[in-house]
Amino acid sequence: MKSIADISAQLQGYDPQALSADAVNEFLARLVEPVTQTESVGIFDALDRVLAQDLISPISVPAHDNSAMDGYALDGALLKSGGAIELDVVGTALAGKAWQGSVGPGECVKIMTGAIMPAGLDTVVPQEFAQAAGDHRIRIPPKLLQPGDNRRLKGEDLREGAPALKRGERLTPAACGLVASLGMPSVPVVRRLRVAYFSTGDEILSLGEPAREGAVYDSNRYTAIGLLKRLGCEVIDMGVVRDEPELLEAAFMQAARAADAIITSGGVSVGEADYTKAMMKKLGDVAFWKIAMRPGRPMAVGRIGPAILFGLPGNPVAVMVTFLAFVRPALLRMMGCEDAQPPLLQARSAEAIRKKAGRTEYQRGVVTRAADGSLRVRTTGNQGSGVLSSMVQANGLIVLHHAQGNVAVGDPVDVMMFEGVI
Ligand code: AMP
Ligand code: MG
Repeated sequence: MKSIADISAQLQGYDPQALSADAVNEFLARLVEPVTQTESVGIFDALDRVLAQDLISPISVPAHDNSAMDGYALDGALLKSGGAIELDVVGTALAGKAWQGSVGPGECVKIMTGAIMPAGLDTVVPQEFAQAAGDHRIRIPPKLLQPGDNRRLKGEDLREGAPALKRGERLTPAACGLVASLGMPSVPVVRRLRVAYFSTGDEILSLGEPAREGAVYDSNRYTAIGLLKRLGCEVIDMGVVRDEPELLEAAFMQAARAADAIITSGGVSVGEADYTKAMMKKLGDVAFWKIAMRPGRPMAVGRIGPAILFGLPGNPVAVMVTFLAFVRPALLRMMGCEDAQPPLLQARSAEAIRKKAGRTEYQRGVVTRAADGSLRVRTTGNQGSGVLSSMVQANGLIVLHHAQGNVAVGDPVDVMMFEGVI
């Protein structure tokens, strides 16, 4: 387990007062360790979980060469003549059964999709291309077929003894189907990550409390917990913790005992009058960062007991952006996922965007398809770090990288899409 000081010493040019977004991710990748406990779960419970071991295919899929079409199976060598051919139909091969007969020269077998290819036959002419040429006889016009057409090969999906899925992969619906195709009812997965969350700040009201001047309802609890649920974490919801040292200490200690990671919002910016930072400092090994980014900037990171701490800023959009940019990849690593960075797609900016080089900016955007089929992205208006409505309207975050400057209309920009994430 590396301390904050160990990691800081390893990173070239580490400056907690001016960290780039990339440096944050690099730091976090060194700080977190994957959970080691695993469990076996049924396929339906495996969705979105992370595979704990390579899954070696016990069988080949498909198990035999078989037909990809309804039609007639024949010996592809007959096509060499290049002309039309006529064949006698000597039997029918049905899906799920091997056809037992033998096929002589000038003969073919009617075959259904998925049926095992009869011995000696390697090509299927689709039914719609075969013309009737008398009772139990078909004619195949020239130049329609190549030898091997419309045949699926044994093991073309999965080969016996080869890894069908790799450790560290997240199980998508497609992966769950693949597991089932191997005849496996359950899979070994990494145990769920336990994440405790609480909001801090004396001006923060829990739902149900009467509104009062200067106070705001706690929205961060709902965005953060929603994001955690999307990741498949087990959430320990600790609500709002009032700004009193004893209450904060009790909350941090309880969270550190119960969770792999603790996420808080609020109380980490420079001018904070409250006790959150002091308590983090007292109880843990914690760094307080200023990140060259917008929105966001302040963030506390470290360890309290065995739990990893992410002290997010208070502003509602800053919470979501820092979560997506840093916390999500770090939690995915803790879940044992190898590929933790979200994929970015590229779209052309529909507007000019002012951007200062030397910090990463995340703008809320809407990606649409233009008439010419290319992707366009526009911003959703007010980009204030407390404005959730423009986050709601967005379908992705435009990521304007550290070194990037102003964006002109039509310039390509990177976008982190929300689909499946938010
Ligand atoms: P802070 O990081 O504590 O200085 O908070 C920055 C801003 O975010 C302030 O305007 C807070 O009122 C607001 N804020 C902090 N926590 C929350 C929360 N849980 N829900 C909604 N707004 C919050
Ligand atoms: Mg505050």
